[in-house]
Order: sequence, then C-alpha cells, then structure tokens
Amino acid sequence: MKPSATVIGAGLAGSEAAWQIARAGYLVRLVEMRPTRSTPAHKTDRFAELVCSNSFKSDLESTPAGLLKREMRDLGSLTLAVADRCRVPGGEALAVDREAFSQGVTEALGALPNVLLERNEATGEDVERWLQDGPVVVATGPLTSDGLAEWLAAKTGSDRLYFFDAVSPTVTAESIDRSVAFAGSRYGKGGDDYLNCPFTREEYDAFVAALLAAERAPLHDFEQGVRYFEGCLPIEEIASRGARSLAFGNFKPVGLTDPRTGRRPYAVLQLRPENADRTLYSLVACQTRLKWGEQARVFRMVPGLQNAEFVRFGVIHRNTYLHAPTVFDRTLRLRNLSAVRCAGQITGVEGYMESAATGLLAGLWTVLDLSGSEPVEPPAECVLGSLLAYLADQTERDFAPMNANWGLFPPLEPPLRDKQARRAALAQRAREAFGRWLQDVRAALGSAGPQP
Ligand SMILES: Cc1cc2nc3c(=O)[nH]c(=O)nc-3n(C[C@H](O)[C@H](O)[C@H](O)COP(=O)(O)OP(=O)(O)OC[C@H]3O[C@@H](n4cnc5c(N)ncnc54)[C@H](O)[C@@H]3O)c2cc1C
Repeated sequence: MKPSATVIGAGLAGSEAAWQIARAGYLVRLVEMRPTRSTPAHKTDRFAELVCSNSFKSDLESTPAGLLKREMRDLGSLTLAVADRCRVPGGEALAVDREAFSQGVTEALGALPNVLLERNEATGEDVERWLQDGPVVVATGPLTSDGLAEWLAAKTGSDRLYFFDAVSPTVTAESIDRSVAFAGSRYGKGGDDYLNCPFTREEYDAFVAALLAAERAPLHDFEQGVRYFEGCLPIEEIASRGARSLAFGNFKPVGLTDPRTGRRPYAVLQLRPENADRTLYSLVACQTRLKWGEQARVFRMVPGLQNAEFVRFGVIHRNTYLHAPTVFDRTLRLRNLSAVRCAGQITGVEGYMESAATGLLAGLWTVLDLSGSEPVEPPAECVLGSLLAYLADQTERDFAPMNANWGLFPPLEPPLRDKQARRAALAQRAREAFGRWLQDVRAALGSAGPQP
C-alpha cells in the first residue's frame, strides 16, 4: 500500500508531524538519514535527539514557554507525552533524561504499524517522486543535508535559504528606557522607525572595554575555520580592530541629534522594530558570539538599555532556514509548491519546543489536507499563533529565527502599564483564544483529532 504522506527528518519536528499523521489513521513514510549519514551535531540514530541542552525551558503556564507546552499537550503532542515521562529535576524548567527521551520517541513511532520508516538521505529527486503519493513535510532541521538544501534553494530562490544565523540580540520594547533612547532616523529620513541609544565618550569607552573582555561562546567542531562575511562580523571582532572602530562604523552618530543635549552624541547604537506591532526591537549590527550571560551584562551598559529584557540573544552559528515571510503561506506550505510543507527550525522558529510545535501543526494540517478540509490557523493571541504571525510578518526587516516570547503577542487594547498585570492578562487571553481554536480543530478533525 502506498503511503498517504511523507515526512522527511525524524528530529523534533518530523517525529511530531509523523505521529500526528499516523495517529489520525493515515499511512506515513518517515525518512531519516541517520545512521546511513549523520549530521555534524547528532551522535545517535535515534529520533528527536537533543543535540545540546537537555532543557525544554520553563513549564510554568505564566510564561510563554510554559503556555506553549500547555497548547501542545492539549493538541496531543508526542514530544511532551514522552518528555513528561522522562523528566529529571530542573526547577521550573522541563528537563529530560536525553537518552530516555529520544529512545521514548523512537519506540513510540516504531510501535505504530502505519509509520513506514526509511533510513536514507532524501534528495530533491526523492521528494518529487514522493509527491506523487501525497503531501510531503520537510523537517530536516538546521543541519539539512546539502543535496536537499540545494533542492529547497532551487524551489524557493537561492537568496531565500540561509546557512548561517548572524543575529543581533532582541529586546522587548517595554524594557527600553525612552527617557534616554530617542526616536528618529539619520538626517530625519525614514520617520521614527529607529530608536537611538546615545553614548558619551566615557560610556562608549567603558562599553568597548567590557565587550572586548567578555567571554565568547566556544565554536562547535564543525564551525571551526568558518570565515565570516565582512557584513556579518561579530561586533566584538570589529571592536578589536581599533578603539574607535565602532564609533566610525556600526555605532556612527552622523545625522542624529540627542534631544536631551541638542548635540550629536559620541556614538549611537540603533534599535530597529522586529515586528509590525513594535513590541520587539533588535540591536542593529550587534551580531555577536559572546556567551548569553555576557551579552546581557555588556549590552545593559548601553545608555537606555540598562533594564533591557532580552527575548533572544545574538548568535552566529550554522543554521539552515528559509525566509519565512516570502516563502511560506500561513500554514507553512511552500507558496510555489503547496504540496510541500516545512516544519521545525528550517521554518525560522528557534528552539526544541518551537520546532516540535511547528511539526505538530504541520502534522495536523496534513491530516486536514488528506481529509479534504481547509487548514485552521491558530489565532495570533495564543503562543502557536504568535509564532506563526512572526513568521508571516512582512515588515521590512532582516528576518531572524525566533523563539516563543512575550513580545510576539499582539498588544492589549487598552494597554496595561503594570508589567505583572499585563503579562497575566496576555496569558489569560492566550488561554482563551487557544481554547476556542482547539474546539475548531476538534470539529474539523473529528475522531482523527486531539480528544479532550
Ligand atoms: C549544534 C546545535 C545546538 C542546539 N542547541 C539547542 C539547545 O540547546 N536548545 C534548543 O532549544 N535548541 C537548540 N538548537 C536549535 C534547535 O532547537 C534544534 O536544532 C532542534 O533539534 C531543531 O529541530 P528540527 O526538528 O527542526 O531539526 P532536527 O532535530 O535537527 O531534526 C532534523 C532531522 O533531519 C535529518 N535530516 C537532515 N537532512 C536529511 C535528509 N536529506 N534526509 C533525511 N533526513 C535528513 C537529521 O538527521 C535530523 O534527524 C540547537 C541547534 C544546533 C545546530
């Protein structure tokens, strides 16, 4: 019998997608290249292997990471069912025994008679062939093999597929001190899109000294010898070229006047909105390899960022992902090849749980495709919907992968000033919006869907 659908990659996202399709009663082909061919980071042939930390972040439903887990549990997530079984002490975080976790996911899928496992590296030619059987989910992750990456680039446009993250830190808008950071673009061109953090000479010198002394993240073996493009150089690398290299480069103050002094600052770090709602701002040209704790310490020395809340730290690392806003439709189908859907890190989400979550959605949507129904999108007010809204956001920006965080939720109307009250209200709204959507999903999927 021919499979109804194919899932490529049995990582966090692919395992979850295959589980959802098989659980709904369809025959699914699951293709995983390990151990025939491995990635530079994986060590075993098991599914959903955790390549680094064994933590899935907070399990508290008062946080976006915890709310995401609630939503996934309600949708019948395999990842969370197994994680809950092999939990190890991790405080408020859901930490797991990594061996037991990937073994558990492998066994759960292996026990389903309607999962047909193939241990081969999928190529573009394979995908074209499998498409004749039914829809295909590509969930091959940040270390997608070269052949398949080439096929994706050919289908989406070579400038739409990235092989590296060179990402600056992102902070919440509410944590920026507006009595210091001022709005405006250079020479008044471009309205108030940017926020500007003005340095005095003393502040600049102290910042550069801290930047140069800060501890850097070690390179993985497979990243050794990587040469950076000049435009993606780590900020600490640029700073090391001369005391004023940032003041003349990334932090040049030309065309900007600090309204507090009426003068041009010594240097300026600019912040650019990351989303249409302007709830998140990224630090322009601050891609960095500093350790995360060091980033928080050093960038809080920037005037206006002393209380900054970081939702994403800067990274420069190997990561294959697509330019989501232009490549996908609202349910992660390739715009110009709609029988192919993507899931996991390759869609531009960041993190284990976010990857598994997009796998879960891709699985449910594939089931709806197979049953002839329209895919139902989660509302932007819940965590799953907020991630998808970020991926679809067409705001002119450098698209950077993103994890679940408060800044992705649409703002409250009317706004609430108190941070605790605001977050409690956002969480409550997320629960209610998700609850209503879950009913729609259950109605659309019938007995094939998640049951109460
Ligand atoms: C080195 C590294 C460390 C990371 N550390 C963390 C961390 O600590 N915490 C965190 O939250 N996130 C981390 N991430 C980010 C991300 O959450 C993980 O990479 C996560 O595993 C992504 O899930 P995924 O399903 O998209 O990809 P993966 O889990 O990588 O799964 C993709 C699967 O596809 C297979 N595959 C690839 N190409 C092919 C092909 N052509 N044919 C068949 N199979 C193929 C791979 O073998 C793999 O099994 C890390 C990423 C990397 C690269």
